[in-house]
Amino acid sequence: MAYDFDLFVIGAGSGGVRAARFAAGFGAKVAVAESRYLGGTCVNVGCVPKKLLVYGAHVADELEQAAGFGWTLEEGHFDWGTLIANKNREIERLNGIYRNLLVNSGVTLLQGHARITGPNEVEVDGQRYSAGHILIATGGWPQVPDIPGKELAITSNEAFYLKALPRRVLVVGGGYIAVEFAGIFQGLGAATTLLYRGDLFLRGFDGSVRTHLKEELEKRGLDLQFNADIQRIDKLEDGSLKATLKDGRELLADCVFYATGRRPMLDNLGLENTGVELDERGFIRVDEQYQTTAPSILAIGDVIGRVQLTPVALAEGMAVARRLFKPEQYRPVDYQNIPTAVFSQPPIGTVGLTEEQALQAGHKVQVFESRFRAMKLTLTDIQEKTLMKLVVDAETDKVLGCHMVGPDAGEIIQGLGIALKAGATKQQFDETIGVHPTAAEEFVTMRTVTR
Ligand code: FAD
Ligand code: NDP
Repeated sequence: MAYDFDLFVIGAGSGGVRAARFAAGFGAKVAVAESRYLGGTCVNVGCVPKKLLVYGAHVADELEQAAGFGWTLEEGHFDWGTLIANKNREIERLNGIYRNLLVNSGVTLLQGHARITGPNEVEVDGQRYSAGHILIATGGWPQVPDIPGKELAITSNEAFYLKALPRRVLVVGGGYIAVEFAGIFQGLGAATTLLYRGDLFLRGFDGSVRTHLKEELEKRGLDLQFNADIQRIDKLEDGSLKATLKDGRELLADCVFYATGRRPMLDNLGLENTGVELDERGFIRVDEQYQTTAPSILAIGDVIGRVQLTPVALAEGMAVARRLFKPEQYRPVDYQNIPTAVFSQPPIGTVGLTEEQALQAGHKVQVFESRFRAMKLTLTDIQEKTLMKLVVDAETDKVLGCHMVGPDAGEIIQGLGIALKAGATKQQFDETIGVHPTAAEEFVTMRTVTR
């Protein structure tokens, strides 16, 4: 049977655009439907605008350091409206680039909500299309716990479009988004409190990293409250918000920001018309080749809930395009040693196993750890410390994990990701000549075993 399209992609986000473009490049007839914004979460309400706001907040650090280098500056003034307007302009530019990328690669772009009506059929705005394969790349959506007053809270979706910088912010959660936005709000001048339900935020990250970041954020005056959770939120007559915690304490704020994880975006997707099953967490269940339990339907990216990062969605999109239309070039996605950064202030960069994971996996572990004050700060009064840590297998000498908290951690960890993927040993790290004077050279000069 001849279908309208070989591949129908639902969602023009990181994964969907990559799969659509490459499939079209391999000669397939491809459509992509997008209901909201080209480029998806990452471009519109994720990585890109977040990083621009992080840069904005980081300017405060540069201004603080300036005096040590002889600069006398007039008192600075920050204008949220200017930052958001400039950010919006850049996002619109990127939306246009994504449109061109798709159209120029021969993909049919359909603007509207897509609903699957059968194993090989999708409906967009009342129009039905048939396709040999359907790829679900619909991403995720913020999840706020069901507490009284939850409608008074915002999520990352709204934070990017706030009319004004709130004076007092409560950030709820202890993952990537909570830590990053607490740094943004605080860096830009809001009195910020981060509330996390457990003992220490960033569960799953290396223990030294979590403790080090906690200490550095506290030095910067961020109010960190662990073992704390909100029971209800009420609006007071003067417009401010009162958060009542489970332990009875009451906190006042102008904005309560929830960053408590993301659910898969399956709203009105029509999965009931298919044999697609969900896993126990509610994400779409796929096999190793992103095949759902319905033979003609695949899924990638945040909606499968594997690793919710843009480069992973891109890799999965590429893998699907190759598998379907260029099988001789197919390579499975390697989920080992995925480097990642948390753009907190200071940022985290990490790749490979944490010390805790290495021990749990049965490795005999050697830990090399270094804490130092970055050279750039030596002419200032700022006492911030950088942390670098290597987790090494004592028997094979293989470096199992690299972890850092400090300026440019994300930039530095990318290269170490290649070293770990290549299976580098500690000896090879030691034999690598450093780049001097940098912070990064510490990764090849740590000689003394800490533990
Ligand atoms: P998405 O990019 O979410 O795209 C899904 C698209 O599908 C959306 O455009 C949506 O509108 C569309 N859609 C949904 N349903 C339908 C439908 N029925 N019909 C038509 N269209 C539909 N990752 C990083 O690697 N680095 C970062 O620094 C980073 N920062 C982040 C910051 C924030 C605040 C957030 C929220 C996420 C961040 N991420 C980051 C994660 C990253 O954004 C996601 O992992 C990535 O966007 C997932 O890509 P995706 O293709 O699965 O989905
Ligand atoms: P995460 O899953 O990273 O963190 C969610 C946090 O919320 C955890 O601390 C969790 O606590 C807490 N939480 C969950 N449910 C509740 C609840 N009911 N009440 C109170 N606290 C709760 O999600 P995020 O929303 O921060 O980010 C989503 C994903 O997006 C990330 O996992 C990451 O993959 C991606 N992302 C990547 C970025 C980057 O690469 N720099 C930046 C931003 C996002 P607990 O640990 O106790 O479960």
